[in-house]
Amino acid sequence: MTGMAEIAVVGGGMVGIASAIALRERGLDVVLCDPGEARARTSYGNAGVISRGSILPMASPALWSKLPAYLRNADRALRLDYRHLPRIAPYLAHFLANARESRWRDSASALIPLTSAAYPAHERLAAKTGTSHRLVRNGWIKAYRTEEAFRGAALEREILREHGVAFDILDGHTLREHEPALVRPYARAMLLPETGSVREPGRLVEACEALYARMGGQRVRASVNRLFPDGDGWSVVLDDGTFRAKRVVLAAGAATGALTKPLGYRFAVAAERGYHRHFALRPESPPLTRPILDTGAASILAPMGESGIRVLSGVELSARQAPPDFSQIAAASREAAGTLALGGPLDNEPWLGSRPATPDGMPVIGWAPKHDGLIFAFGHGHIGLSTGPITGEIVADLATGRPPSVPINPFSADRLLQWPRLA
Ligand SMILES: Cc1cc2nc3c(=O)[nH]c(=O)nc-3n(C[C@H](O)[C@H](O)[C@H](O)COP(=O)(O)OP(=O)(O)OC[C@H]3O[C@@H](n4cnc5c(N)ncnc54)[C@H](O)[C@@H]3O)c2cc1C
Repeated sequence: MTGMAEIAVVGGGMVGIASAIALRERGLDVVLCDPGEARARTSYGNAGVISRGSILPMASPALWSKLPAYLRNADRALRLDYRHLPRIAPYLAHFLANARESRWRDSASALIPLTSAAYPAHERLAAKTGTSHRLVRNGWIKAYRTEEAFRGAALEREILREHGVAFDILDGHTLREHEPALVRPYARAMLLPETGSVREPGRLVEACEALYARMGGQRVRASVNRLFPDGDGWSVVLDDGTFRAKRVVLAAGAATGALTKPLGYRFAVAAERGYHRHFALRPESPPLTRPILDTGAASILAPMGESGIRVLSGVELSARQAPPDFSQIAAASREAAGTLALGGPLDNEPWLGSRPATPDGMPVIGWAPKHDGLIFAFGHGHIGLSTGPITGEIVADLATGRPPSVPINPFSADRLLQWPRLA
C-alpha cells in the first residue's frame, strides 16, 4: 500500500465493518484491517437481539445476593476461571464498584438514546446490504420459572418503565399462546415487543463486507500488531509491512486492550466469553418465533435461519485466549432440551466468542483523550451486535466533524482512565 490512507479501521466485526461502510459513504478513503476469520468475531456467534430495553448492565445491584454462588461457580450465569484471576482482578474490582442502584440507573439513562437508535440503524444497514429478510421485529421474551424470580426483576421493570421501554407481562398460559414451542412451564414472562433480532448475525457481517468491497473500500486481511503516532498521521504495523493513515478507528472488540496498552491506555476491560451451539427442533414442534431468555438457565434460545435454534451460554470470565471450557454450554444445552423439543446438535463443537466488556456495561466511543486522530469504538459488551451499526454512524460523524446523532459523553474513554493505578 503506497501513500497515506485517510482513515484505517482496525477490526471488522459489527462495529468495525459498520464504521468502515459509514466512512466510505461520507467519501473517505478507508482501509479496513481484519484477519477475516468469520468465527473469530463475536459478531458472528451472538443471539442477534436488538432491544431498546438492553440498558441494564450486568453489574446490577442484585449481584450482591448472588455473589456467594458466583464465587463458587454455582450459578449458571457465570463461570469464573480462577487460574486467570490476577489478570481479570482489576476488571472485577471495578465491576463490583458499579453494582449499585445509582450506577445502574445512570448507565440506563446513558444507554437509552443509543439502544433506541439501534434498530433504525439496523434497518438502514439491512436495506443497503440486501439483508432485510434477516431482520425480524416481533419482540423477545424474558421467561421466569418462579414467581420469586419474577419479583426479583422488579427494579429492572421499574427502570424500563421510566425510560418508556414497552413490555407486556405474560402469565404461563399466555406465554404458551405466544410461543407454543415452549414445553417447559414458566410462572411469568416479560415480552418486549419493540425488540428485533437478526437471524444469522454472521451472514449480516458477511453481507456488510461484500457491500464495503462494492463501495471501493480497501481491505487488508491481516492482524494489526501495533499502532503508533507518526508525524501527521499514524503507522499501522502488520506482520509483513507497515502502512500509514491520517486517522485510525480502533474497533478490535475484546482484542482492543492489547493495542491500546502500548499507547498508554490501561483500561479495566475484560473478555466476557460466551458459547453457542445449534440444535434442530423436532419435526412435531411448532417453530420458535422469537428469542427467549430463560432466566432460570441464564441462557438465550434464539431461532436462527439456516442454523436452527442457537442455544447461548452465560458469561465466562477467563483469559481471552484460554482454551475453551464447554461446561456452561453443556449445562445450557441440557436446560434447553427441557425448554424446547430439541433434536440433536447440528454442529460438531460449540462456538466460543468474547464480549468486549467494560465494568459499567457501556461502550467506549469517541476521540482518544491522549492522541490526535485516534477514534475508539469498542467495549460494546452484551449489546455490540445491536449497537454496532449506530456506532458506525457515530464514528463517521466524528471523523467528518459532524455532531454525533446520539450523545456520547457518557461513553468517553476518560471514565475508564479515572480509576486509580490504571490511568
Ligand atoms: C454468547 C453471546 C451472545 C450475545 N448476544 C448478543 C445479542 O443478542 N445482541 C447484541 O447486541 N450483542 C450480543 N452479544 C455481544 C456482541 O456479539 C458483541 O458486543 C459484538 O459482537 C462486538 O462487536 P465488535 O465488532 O466490537 O467485536 P468482534 O465482533 O469480536 O470483532 C472484532 C474484530 O476485530 C478483529 N481483530 C482483533 N484483533 C485485531 C487486530 N490486532 N488487528 C486487526 N483486527 C483485529 C477480529 O478478528 C474481529 O473480526 C453477544 C455475545 C456473546 C458472546
